[in-house]
Parts: sequence; C-alpha cells; structure tokens
Amino acid sequence: MNPKYAPKTGDGRRARVIEEIGEVLKAFGKWDRFGSGSRHPNGGMTNAEEALFELEDLKGAIDVYLPDVRAIVHRDAAMAASNDNAKKS
Ligand SMILES: [Mg+2]
Repeated sequence: MNPKYAPKTGDGRRARVIEEIGEVLKAFGKWDRFGSGSRHPNGGMTNAEEALFELEDLKGAIDVYLPDVRAIVHRDAAMAASNDNAKKS
C-alpha cells in the first residue's frame, strides 16, 4: 500500500480491512465463476494471481489493525471489571 494512503485512525484501519475483505471476495468470486487461470478480457492478472494479491493485501491490513482490536478488548475487559467492583461495593 502506498504510505500516502495509509489510514491514520482505528476507524480507518478497520475500514481498510473491510475494503480488503471485499476485494478478496470479488477475486474468489471471479475464480469460482471463470477459473483460476482466467483473466479479464482486457488482460491483467489471472484470477488466482488476483486472489493471492488481495489475500496479501488483507493480511497486511489485518496485521496493522490487530493492535487496535487488542487494545479495545483489554479496555472493555478493564471497564467491565471496574463496573463489577463498583457493584460489589
Ligand atoms: Mg486490495
């Protein structure tokens, strides 16, 4: 990905994961409809090459977004524990 377009917020990183999931689904849809070795009539990558490219894109987007999700899980668990302690006291 061009660093110029790298998302700078958690929402942006999640949006990129969603976008890449869509591109993977499209690539596998073309693969299943037309075959792994088929390509667009105008040329370009084969469907299998496109799927590989988009899977690698998705993996990169997930790797970038995972720390955000981990932080949110930890934050929510801490808030839940704090709320439980408040109810007990
Ligand atoms: Mg992509």
